Amino acid sequence: MNENGVCLKWNWIKAPDLNQEIMDKASCEQILLDHNLSNGSDKWLWLGGNEDGFAVKDLRRIIDKELLICDNEIFKWSKWMLKKVNFLAWRAGMDRLPTKEALIKRNVGVSSLTCDLCGHDSESADHLFVKCSYALTIWRLSKWCKMDIGLGDGIREVLMFKKMAKGSQMFKNIGQSLIFTTIWAIWKARNDRIFNNIRKDPSDVIGEIKVLSFLWIINRAKLNLVEWKDWCNFDISL
Ligand SMILES: [Zn+2]
Repeated sequence: MNENGVCLKWNWIKAPDLNQEIMDKASCEQILLDHNLSNGSDKWLWLGGNEDGFAVKDLRRIIDKELLICDNEIFKWSKWMLKKVNFLAWRAGMDRLPTKEALIKRNVGVSSLTCDLCGHDSESADHLFVKCSYALTIWRLSKWCKMDIGLGDGIREVLMFKKMAKGSQMFKNIGQSLIFTTIWAIWKARNDRIFNNIRKDPSDVIGEIKVLSFLWIINRAKLNLVEWKDWCNFDISL
């Protein structure tokens, strides 16, 4: 109970018992007890911008500032990729995708931890996108685009491509866009396997990546003169 006479009473389905849960509960209580609660009705208040109210660009700025840049600058938005593709790559890098290991950590029951794409090892973001034999076969597309995509130990290293790569800005942007498209395609192949019982051959996924990246990159990158056959041979000037 605080000095305002507010008393918190929890109604748990599962009481916190892990250290992290207990710490989260304590910080949550502190936030609640530090505020004056009134009998008025609740309302949403946007504090991220000016008085005009909520704006997506303000939210984007906050995410960039608070989450992405602070996170060792591993993640850069790709201006050539769709928002949903950027967002998926960001979630993968922050380990915020509902992989089986992530679900277990959130106390969500899963029948098996095993990766459905390879049938070995447990499914984490690092495994699914980088260490999985299925994903490794797909990453061979780096030979097609003649780029040295360092897979290293996990997804975060892959996302550092733009920061670490040597070459023109065009080269870095195309490489980053291809990486995001690949992450998108692997996640889609994984979901097709789990939810639709569709087994995609890695070579088909590589073909899909070439088509999607062509559609997504070419117009936005002002590479209008690049034709499909040139893209297939990755015969473009960088
Ligand atoms: Zn696997």
